[in-house]
Amino acid sequence: MKLACIDIGGTTVKSLFVEAQKGAPLSSYKWEGYGFAPTCAAQGFEAIKRSVLLSIESVLARCSCDAIAVATAGTVDWDSGKVVFATEALPGFSGFDLRGFLKAEFDMPVRVINDATAAAVAEHYNGDHIDSDEAVLTIGTGLGAAVVAADRLDATGVTDIKLGHVTYVPGGHRCKCGKLGCLEQYVSATAMRRDCANSDLDAVFADKATYGAQIDAFEEALCFAVRKASEYAPYIVIGGGVTEIARWWDDFTKKLGPVFADRIKKASLGNRAGALGAAYAALNGSFERQ
Ligand SMILES: [Zn+2]
Repeated sequence: MKLACIDIGGTTVKSLFVEAQKGAPLSSYKWEGYGFAPTCAAQGFEAIKRSVLLSIESVLARCSCDAIAVATAGTVDWDSGKVVFATEALPGFSGFDLRGFLKAEFDMPVRVINDATAAAVAEHYNGDHIDSDEAVLTIGTGLGAAVVAADRLDATGVTDIKLGHVTYVPGGHRCKCGKLGCLEQYVSATAMRRDCANSDLDAVFADKATYGAQIDAFEEALCFAVRKASEYAPYIVIGGGVTEIARWWDDFTKKLGPVFADRIKKASLGNRAGALGAAYAALNGSFERQ
């Protein structure tokens, strides 16, 4: 099966052509034509829809496809493909029937799932996938986490555990959710940039002499996040942009201690995970609505 896959974020729409068989392991997927286009969210709903259509058309122009798989920011109803809620990062997306819109435009099967869910599905089913529940943490602009139940790929099998909004520092930094001291205010790229007053996180993590205290605090907060996530699932995968800056990983795993040694790993698919997870779910997931 040939799929046009996109991953709609607040800043970019990523696109990917994927060729894969239902039931085949994700590591066997052939993919090409990895593209980025600006989401144009600041210009509003119509502009975002245009970016989405152009991204899909750019894949279809290269290869004919049988279906469309979409990962998007926002809360998505797994069965209907409707965006139930989206923040102002995607204006107009709250309540948007994204699947219906794309089916009408392209006249082929469409599946839509949440982006963090998609990334979690991709990491869980990639490589030697563990036959056990797994929590996938994504450290980027915020902190996301989803638990993928072992081999149950449906609306109840992948759960957003809202780890980023667990209180970590009572009375701490104000979070965009309105609460004080949420974990993502301490474990995210945004938090590190704020605390180090430096937007170049590569430079920050390379400079322990200057930023030692902040790096230490980040690792401690991530240890808390992992222990919290382990209440939901025995195995943990950590991904997201900050994970690709590898320097802090060894110190962090030392802090975490040997009890997690065989239960934690770094994500391996990078920022293709969203599009690949959407493809995997489209091929292998169970959806109530056809
Ligand atoms: Zn919060």
